[in-house]
Amino acid sequence: MSDSRSHRSFVSQNVAAIPRSGIRDFFDIVSTTKGAISLGVGEPGFAAPWHIRDASIYSLEKGATGYTSNLGLAELRNGIARYVEDAFDLSYDPQSEILITTGVSEGLDLAIRAIVDPGDEIIFHEPSYVSYRPVIQLANGIPVAVETDEKGEFEITLPAIAEKITERTKALILSYPNNPTGATLSPSILEGVANLAREHDFLVISDEIYAELTYDQQHVSIASLPGMKDRTLFLHGFSKAWAMTGFRIGYCCAPQVLTHAMMSIHQYTMLCAPILSQAAAIAALRRVDLDVPEMKKLYRRNRNFLIHSLAEMNLPCVQPKGAFYAFPFIGDLGVTSEQFALDLLREQKVAVVPGTAFGDCGEGYIRCSYATSLKDLKEAVLRMAQFVAKAKKD
Ligand code: PLP
Repeated sequence: MSDSRSHRSFVSQNVAAIPRSGIRDFFDIVSTTKGAISLGVGEPGFAAPWHIRDASIYSLEKGATGYTSNLGLAELRNGIARYVEDAFDLSYDPQSEILITTGVSEGLDLAIRAIVDPGDEIIFHEPSYVSYRPVIQLANGIPVAVETDEKGEFEITLPAIAEKITERTKALILSYPNNPTGATLSPSILEGVANLAREHDFLVISDEIYAELTYDQQHVSIASLPGMKDRTLFLHGFSKAWAMTGFRIGYCCAPQVLTHAMMSIHQYTMLCAPILSQAAAIAALRRVDLDVPEMKKLYRRNRNFLIHSLAEMNLPCVQPKGAFYAFPFIGDLGVTSEQFALDLLREQKVAVVPGTAFGDCGEGYIRCSYATSLKDLKEAVLRMAQFVAKAKKD
């Protein structure tokens, strides 16, 4: 406050304690660096397919500018029920078990707030998506991180989870294919996690946002394992596999009582997801068999190129099996992840994200998104190779 008489801080302690996202910091630097190529931000480097954009424009032309039902348009919920059944072998009632959200981001926030009482513990794995820890803290929950490592190909391990389970464990967030490592989960671990959830009676919040983007194996949702649908909040959305980040559209499928609990918050905080984006999502589901394989083809090509190039630079990198990120180890170059990323941006105008943005155990790594155009990726790799060669000499 500008009033010098007041020394009182009006910001809640909970909010004041939330660190700024390391990704945003880099994004801000990139946006003011002329000629920079960004492998930094986790979104597709191209626009949503035209038929999706057209559907949104057309709905606007027809005058669809109002609110929708709090749950979301029935046509969209029906489409999602069909899609989730086809793609994940999961059957949800569109009337009571599907809630349309403004991206997985809102779904995650609702899921956590709907289940957490102060002091409840939520287990999640790191390195992981930047939102999990703060969203848990903002809900007065206790974030309990489980580290994953390169040796274990960044898969969560059952002993590591078991060690963290207490009386207060309310849920585990499972996030595979993983941002930032590109790791997927093998079926035996998925089953082991389900066993732990049943045995210790906790929920799983399954962030399925990269489910369509697996390159070496078919994705299986934990919700489809025996007895797990009743204890899973299945979060999904259109941002990644449909290149629709700006539409801010996602959904949560969960048992009725949990959907209702999430809806209790959503109705007062968001009211409903934007109607234009819901129209776009309806269109996206109509051509899912055409658009998604097309995008996946581009990502797979970029992934292969980037992995090959990192190997040529002698930067060790676990082969990403999903999502659109590579997470190479740069720790042998004698700099921290943050210093590497800052120097690379300053000297070669290539933006990557320091691994520490995704948890302390990300030190020594950088995240490179390969969802750019191949042209940009090729140029970024050339510049990065020069930078790494110089760093090795120094
Ligand atoms: N979950 C993960 C693992 C992500 O990587 C992201 C975005 O990068 C999100 C959720 C947020 O997705 P949305 O755009 O649907 O809010």
